[in-house]
Amino acid sequence: MGDFSNPDKVKTFISSFNEKYPDITVTVEYLDYSTGDDRILAALSNGTAPDIVLEGPERIVSNWGAKGYMADLSDMWTDEIKRDISKYDDKVETACRNADGVFYEFPLCETAHCMAINLDVFEKAGALKYIDLDNRTWTTDGFVKACRAVADSGLVSTPGVIYCGGQGGDQGTRALVSNLFGAKFTDEDNTRYTIDSSEGISALKLLVEMTKDGSLSSDTTIQASDELKLFASGKTAMSFAWNSSNEKQFAFNSKFDIFPIAFPTDQAQPELCSGIWGFGIFDNGNEAKIENSKKLVDFLCNDDIQSPASVRASGFFPVRSELDAVYIGTPQEETMAPFDQLRRYATDYYSVTPGWAAQRTFWWSTLQKIFSGTIVESALSSYSELANGAATGTISPGETNIRNSSASRVLFISSFSLSYPGVEDIIHGLRDGLSDEAYIHCEFMDSGAISGDEYVNTFYHYICDKYSNIKNIGAIVVAGDNALNMVIRHQNGFFSDIPVLYSNIYSFSLAELADSLGMKGYSLINTVVDNIDLACKIKPDVSKIYVISDNSLAGTALSAYVEGIKTRYAPRKVIIIDTSKYTKSEIKDKLSSLFEECFVIYIAFTTDTSGKTYRYDHALQLVTKNADVPVLSLSWMGNGTLGSISVDYVKLGTQVGYLANDALGMEQPGSYSGIPEKTYTEASFDVAMMKKFKVHRWSLPRSSTYYNGLSTVELLTYIIGGLAIAVVLFAFLMLFYKAENKHRKENEILLKEQNKQITEEAEIDALTGLGNRRLFDRDIEKSLNSGRSFSLFLIDLDKFKQINDTYGHLTGDAVLRETGNRLLTMKERSFVPYRYGGDEFAVLYFHPVDEDVTAKSKEVLKLFDTAIESDTGDVHLNISLGSADFPADATTVEELMHSADQALYYIKGNGRNSSKRFSDVAFHFEK
Ligand code: GH3
Ligand code: MG
Repeated sequence: MGDFSNPDKVKTFISSFNEKYPDITVTVEYLDYSTGDDRILAALSNGTAPDIVLEGPERIVSNWGAKGYMADLSDMWTDEIKRDISKYDDKVETACRNADGVFYEFPLCETAHCMAINLDVFEKAGALKYIDLDNRTWTTDGFVKACRAVADSGLVSTPGVIYCGGQGGDQGTRALVSNLFGAKFTDEDNTRYTIDSSEGISALKLLVEMTKDGSLSSDTTIQASDELKLFASGKTAMSFAWNSSNEKQFAFNSKFDIFPIAFPTDQAQPELCSGIWGFGIFDNGNEAKIENSKKLVDFLCNDDIQSPASVRASGFFPVRSELDAVYIGTPQEETMAPFDQLRRYATDYYSVTPGWAAQRTFWWSTLQKIFSGTIVESALSSYSELANGAATGTISPGETNIRNSSASRVLFISSFSLSYPGVEDIIHGLRDGLSDEAYIHCEFMDSGAISGDEYVNTFYHYICDKYSNIKNIGAIVVAGDNALNMVIRHQNGFFSDIPVLYSNIYSFSLAELADSLGMKGYSLINTVVDNIDLACKIKPDVSKIYVISDNSLAGTALSAYVEGIKTRYAPRKVIIIDTSKYTKSEIKDKLSSLFEECFVIYIAFTTDTSGKTYRYDHALQLVTKNADVPVLSLSWMGNGTLGSISVDYVKLGTQVGYLANDALGMEQPGSYSGIPEKTYTEASFDVAMMKKFKVHRWSLPRSSTYYNGLSTVELLTYIIGGLAIAVVLFAFLMLFYKAENKHRKENEILLKEQNKQITEEAEIDALTGLGNRRLFDRDIEKSLNSGRSFSLFLIDLDKFKQINDTYGHLTGDAVLRETGNRLLTMKERSFVPYRYGGDEFAVLYFHPVDEDVTAKSKEVLKLFDTAIESDTGDVHLNISLGSADFPADATTVEELMHSADQALYYIKGNGRNSSKRFSDVAFHFEK
């Protein structure tokens, strides 16, 4: 808002504050309207909420305050301040407190939203006579005539545009409709939406008439910011979205005279929507912080020297009458004067009415419908039903709208095409979860490839056309943010009356909006946190986590979410790379410059700055190829990723299917347990990538699935390589055989030896001479199948990285070699050591079923009592050893590995340098 979004200006305020309070540190983040809600919601749900927020009462009081997130600021509202604020405008005080009189907002400034006209055009068109220039008002009749005159003059392409797209600037169209014939947008107590009154209907009918006869136009795809640009560039002669701040932003170099004016009305006085901005403090349970925050708010709003500067920075007007003169004698005095005059027409602050966010969505879609030909009465009545349903929390299509028993069809709409990860799985899951009688229609928006308001409208019309004759659609299942967004926008259109179930939603506020409309479903917001947490666990000393995202609906929402929680990873830096802002080669450069202690989390990459669209797997490959650091993706796709914690889409689909059965009034299938499953995440990792990036199993979630991606390739390479060698040798043999039959015997021996060597090389670790992972895998499988009792020891060197760092890699190698040697000193038929990989070793120890292996483990640990001599000095090495017993602890290889791993994991987290059996630590891992 104004200069409060200018970091240089804000810095000066903070340093003045610090002169007074040197001990309070202030950090500032800047929010914007497209992502602000998601960032705050993310922060709130993760305990990283900011202390102070600068916003209006519709969010601070009616939203976050009502949910119990805000601290009580009543003590800041002293009697003197109340008196001073209400001297000018008593509505401010009411707006800043809840129904119980608790203040959550301390206000700084306010303004009234108005219109503006192009004075030059109006004058030339002879339309000025319809305006009361002194009072900056006009009548409805005058407005109609003026528009006609401007249209007839041909000076502009259209007198004004009723914009029906987008999010912001709704106050303009609301005020236009309410003022014309004195309709009220909400009731007096701000509890209900009332624009479906006869006055509201007449106003919209008039506007429709005017667009039909060309004295105005409408556009369902442009939004307020587009309209402002059209006006500022002289293409239209009026704007419905004006205020002092927009004037500064859009009209600083306009070539004509701009005249701010009230909305036309046939009443005695226009009613302008007011905007109030002030501070709220999040209640983070820390009294001291709340007190410090109050000091900053008090300083910004009430300090004798600072407060006028704060108000001027806002670009709006003070709420304190004491500050009335802030603009007098300043360069802004002249430009602010008209707005000061218009401020007198401000009406009560009705945007604190419950259900506001939902209402706003319906308002836009209602305008879209009306200006595309829907009858005003019916559009307004469905608007009113939905908006008031949201206000009272009584919408629940999921329960009330089961239409009839023949409604057996489900319309599944996916944001993405079938080739996107998870989409096919969701459909499979949905099929599993849905009753056998239900039929599924599938539609794909493919918004990864095509997007934009216009396309969404086209797609919506396609759905309407295609399904308008299918009467028994009993539920809509949407997957993805774009699809849900479309359905919500048209909830009073084709989708009215049909229960909506959602899945795969990444925008917090969108999911919240859907819930408030009685929709049900599952959002996946937390998978991004799971993956960042995982990155930190895998590499606790990771310094930077790069998040690859884009400007798609889901990408924007997830980026906002990450912005909202990134402080909890401090001192690590979480950096978002928005691919839509860079060229392909810039993205490549960025990725290839990442160094060792970084991690990449892949969220979305559908486009770059040239607008080129990328297929999911191609984009992912581009990332993993260029970044030589581990990459986690939100959906498992291989392609060089280390892995991911992602959603089990089949399960997710099944759960949504169960919800849909309820909506259809159908019986649940046999698989339905009645208990909604809470966790949909599954962790999968690529063993080859784990090896490459030295990622250990114990740093990964316990129930992970391991893919052997590259190992299989390796295996194939070995087989093919082995075969090739055999073929070559065989060819040689034949030659020898033919040429020199007498050497046959010798050659056979040679061949045998060579073959033996090949096998050995494939199974022996070159550095230590121990059996390698391949041999280990084979031996453990064999041992298990033999049924003999044995234990698995997993050994990992402690702080081995430090040894490498201190003494160098060569010494590190020597230490590994010596570790192998020492283990070999214990080798016998019942004690077989292997090098598992990196600094990990494994032992298969065969023993009677009732033997406690603790003694043996201690023996292994004792091997490292003496320092290891090396060229660079004595190296003191400790090891950690976790063990698990077959068959007592596990009956499969996987389980056994996992159990020993957990024991090792426990030691690594509890001091290292010791041994534990799985049975000693199992209780720590029980849920
Ligand atoms: P921790 O106690 O948690 O195990 O700490 P650590 O430092 O041992 O950490 P970690 O086990 O994750 O590190 C293993 C290190 O082993 C990482 C890698 O640089 C090093 N390493 C792996 N293979 C080799 C090798 O063949 N030679 C040498 N010199 N170092 C290796
Ligand atoms: Mg180690």
